[in-house]
Amino acid sequence: MNHLASEHRYESMQYNRCGRSGLKLPAISLGLWHNFGSVDNYENCKSILLNAFDSGITHFDLANNYGPEPGTAEENFGKVLHHHLRSYRDEMIVSTKAGYYMWKGPYGEWGSKKYLVASLDQSLKRMGIEYVDIFYHHRPDPNTPLEETMGALDLMVRQGKALYVGLSNYSAEQTRQASQILKQLGTPCLIHQPRYSMFDRWVEDGLLDVLEEEGVGCIAFSPLAQGLLTDRYLKNIPEDSRMARGEFLKKENLSEERFNIIRKLNDFAKGRGQSLAQMALSWLLKDARITSVLIGASSVMQLQNNLDCLDNVVFAPDELQQIEMILKG
Ligand code: NDP
Repeated sequence: MNHLASEHRYESMQYNRCGRSGLKLPAISLGLWHNFGSVDNYENCKSILLNAFDSGITHFDLANNYGPEPGTAEENFGKVLHHHLRSYRDEMIVSTKAGYYMWKGPYGEWGSKKYLVASLDQSLKRMGIEYVDIFYHHRPDPNTPLEETMGALDLMVRQGKALYVGLSNYSAEQTRQASQILKQLGTPCLIHQPRYSMFDRWVEDGLLDVLEEEGVGCIAFSPLAQGLLTDRYLKNIPEDSRMARGEFLKKENLSEERFNIIRKLNDFAKGRGQSLAQMALSWLLKDARITSVLIGASSVMQLQNNLDCLDNVVFAPDELQQIEMILKG
């Protein structure tokens, strides 16, 4: 049954222009890397997606390999879209990616035209849609000429299978080169998707400057450091948490030193009237170069808690200094 979306869905979200493009993205976007695969509870996936859309989240981020099993996040997303959100497709920005291992043999990963074209066709089938709004090259490929990979992205746009293209995990210099090739081809790079959080700040060392110069937007992934920058691990390691599953977020990531920093950040956030998750997201959004923060959520409650970060995205200079002090440990 088609979902009747909230009439108020555009009232509290903020929409930011993506680089120098015509496209606006919500300040908070939802990623389907975890919690949306075939091993997860479908009803929960559906509730999170519908709740996100009702809250003004228009952008949903996927990749060929999200699951587990790889591919099943796209299938589940396609199912929810088809059964409940079909009439809202034009209000949504759907992205997918290819670059990591997806299938056996020499054409199942990296950056050849052969792999990228086949992978996008598979993603479109799994989601049951005719085009994606953004297609990303998921990681740089040291062995394929950048011209070939960028040529494949340009081809997808010309074929109408993607409206815009983006890069993920490219260094500042790789991004500059790729962006210049894409401009020459007539398909400018819309967006870059790097990991960026209070705990991982490599983008501040050149990438953000390149993006600004090139007119490319930035969507920060894992802005909560996979859950570390929340109150999730303050008391223990909950059984249903990503750390308890241990594949991508390991117990070693929570050293005593880091735990103390998280505790201090949590107290500081309280002083601002925010949860730690909210403060971690606001802290990224204070920089106008950040188009959107790309969160994950395992429940509607987490999603709603994160959305409230938009109530307070301003930091006084001394607050920023104090946060820097805490982060230094
Ligand atoms: P986050 O850093 O936002 O971590 C999300 C996790 O944090 C949730 O699954 C949940 O953990 C916990 N969490 C979220 N909100 C709260 C809250 N309010 N209170 C307590 N805990 C909370 O992002 P992800 O690492 O999930 O990445 C987000 C998206 O970024 C991905 O889905 C994907 O789209 C993209 N991404 C892209 C990559 C790339 O290479 N381009 C790589 C990685 C991600 P729990 O499950 O334990 O409840």
